[in-house]
Amino acid sequence: MEEALPSREDLASLLKWYVDQGYDETIGEEAVDRFAIAAQAPAPIAAPVASSAPTPFRPAAPSPAAAPRAPVPLESPQVVEDARTLAAGCSTIEELEAAIRSFEGCALKRTAKNTVFADGLPSAPVMIVGEAPGADEDRLGKPFVGVSGQLMDRMMEAIGLKRGEGFYITNILFWRPPGNRTPTLAEQGMCLAFTRRHIELARPKLVVLAGATSAKAVLDTAEGITRLRGKWTSVRLDDGTEIPTMPTFHPAYLLRSPASKRQSWLDLLAIDKKLKEMT
Ligand code: URA
Repeated sequence: MEEALPSREDLASLLKWYVDQGYDETIGEEAVDRFAIAAQAPAPIAAPVASSAPTPFRPAAPSPAAAPRAPVPLESPQVVEDARTLAAGCSTIEELEAAIRSFEGCALKRTAKNTVFADGLPSAPVMIVGEAPGADEDRLGKPFVGVSGQLMDRMMEAIGLKRGEGFYITNILFWRPPGNRTPTLAEQGMCLAFTRRHIELARPKLVVLAGATSAKAVLDTAEGITRLRGKWTSVRLDDGTEIPTMPTFHPAYLLRSPASKRQSWLDLLAIDKKLKEMT
């Protein structure tokens, strides 16, 4: 009997289920049936049998010489260490960008369309560190280019800072997490190695941490953003220099909770005041 094709409604509800699970991008033109591939995998070769009597099944012991080296699992402590070593070896922002683009230790890179490094002038007085690229940033390869980025630009312009001269902007993650989920601690730890070096190399006058994930990761604290925001703290560089740092609400949060813009305005005034005191 011929199988009925799924209805339009069935397909729409399947698509909705995918989106609810966080699959909101296609990464290939053709669907790959991974079950079929697994079924076609060659069966293990049986050892030659000396007699015709049935032999009990015993998995063949791998010969030490032929055993493939176990790959280092993505985001393992070793990968985080590799990221630190790689970042420490970079002495310019260009080198750091190239190192991040060639880094294969983060699984997020496999589902992302682009590596999203930074935007603006690296020597700007203010460096903003956000969370992770969203769909627009992933598509265009630049941080904060979607609606929350536009709000960020307007907020900074309100204190006279334009992207490209007044502030430089990046994220703690360089690849979009699927479905914009919160990055795992392992993903954050690995990318943070690069972000800390990024701050060291840019040496801004001030760092602004946009949102809870960025503030918690960079300041290495479990404190929530509501408590952290609006209070000056600092990022300590490896050479002992301390850079004044202001945690503040993420613009995406402000779009959802416009009443909190009043507090963000106070943070912006504090940033403006500090910059004026420093120059
Ligand atoms: N949110 C972020 O934290 N970073 C971006 O680049 C865009 C949205």
